Amino acid sequence: MPNTTANKFDDWLDLYADRANTLSVSEVRALFAVVSRPEVVSLAGGMPYVHALPKDTIEKSFKKLMHDRGDLAIQYSGGQGDLTLRDQVRELMALEGIKSSVEDIVMTTGSQHGLDLISGLFLERGDVVLAEGPSYVGAIGIFRHYEAHVEHVETDNDGLQPEALEEAIKRLKAEGRKIKFLYLVPNFANPSGVTLAAKRRARIIELCRKNHILVLEDNPYGLLYFDKKVPNALRSMDDNVIYLGSFSKILAPGFRVGYVLCPPAIREKLVLAQESAILCPSAFSQMLISEYLAESDWQGQIETFRGVYRERRDAALDAMKEYLPKLSTTRPEGGFYLWITLPEGLDSKAMLPLAVKELVAYTPGTAFYGDGTGQNKLRICYSFPTPDNIKVGIKRLSNVINLQTELRDTFAKKGTKK
Ligand code: PMP
Repeated sequence: MPNTTANKFDDWLDLYADRANTLSVSEVRALFAVVSRPEVVSLAGGMPYVHALPKDTIEKSFKKLMHDRGDLAIQYSGGQGDLTLRDQVRELMALEGIKSSVEDIVMTTGSQHGLDLISGLFLERGDVVLAEGPSYVGAIGIFRHYEAHVEHVETDNDGLQPEALEEAIKRLKAEGRKIKFLYLVPNFANPSGVTLAAKRRARIIELCRKNHILVLEDNPYGLLYFDKKVPNALRSMDDNVIYLGSFSKILAPGFRVGYVLCPPAIREKLVLAQESAILCPSAFSQMLISEYLAESDWQGQIETFRGVYRERRDAALDAMKEYLPKLSTTRPEGGFYLWITLPEGLDSKAMLPLAVKELVAYTPGTAFYGDGTGQNKLRICYSFPTPDNIKVGIKRLSNVINLQTELRDTFAKKGTKK
């Protein structure tokens, strides 16, 4: 297999595993260096607005932890994760209708790590993972790393379409393909911002159950709703659903703490995989979060986040209406993201350098598909910039899009004159 991403001066080219060829610089990460320049309005990376957190409360939790249980916090700990925190996670998941036992919860180093461990347990070269089209770029990267094929299933404003799922399963089975998972982000999805309608959830679970396909429910944004609570989790309807959660968006990603709730048989394997990979998740991070949850008004803090993100979502939608009224966009009811459809014929990846020149950045749609589609889509993340900057960013974006549309029309006219 030719190594397309490796540096030609790399002396170890002949030694890499084939798997290493699946690693390439993500379109999101490649942007970070450019967009961190202060003059650029970044609507690209999905960063939580951590400035809204009470740092003094976290500092108090830190001091109390070090004073009361400091030696334990900086020691190795159990592979399944801190028991007290697992119990708190149980309460957190109950907010979305999930009944669970601490026995079945495994703490991980962010939910990204949970996703990686689960993928490592199940995926082999050529296996199929069904995922929403579009889907979370970080998950697509992991599935590819395990050399699985990502098959996208069509979505609309109510999320994944059960009919499209049924059709995909039928077709893939007829082709003799092995489908291992359905991976989905049911609430305020990354990148589309849409939420899977309640009435579709049971149908999707039923289809997967009937076809012996594991459901991976990735839900980092569900508690960040603006007005209305999200429908109950898929996991609340079926104990065989593997549920991934995270403290990254409702607290802060720097702690790198996530969790997986899974059926007992899988949980045992998952803990072994975790111990083999990292011995144990960080006791320090887990105990600090546990202390924070016990001592602070964490629900009030999530309410603060909801207000911050609601205001930014409104700023983004208002700016879209003002500067790009003809473009269609999703209307998220929570979370971080807007998904925009460009005029026909425009390519968001090719347009990105022009946008950065105009001092605005976004993520091209192709990042969210494993099959190279999504050229005329782009993702805007409104969670981090101030509402004023969001407006400035979208105005700049409109300059680029309008210019590109004019150029497209000019070329089309020239073409018809010939
Ligand atoms: N899943 C989704 C849908 C995400 O958007 C992210 C982060 N952007 C993650 C998983 C990973 O989150 P973390 O590892 O920080 O918990």
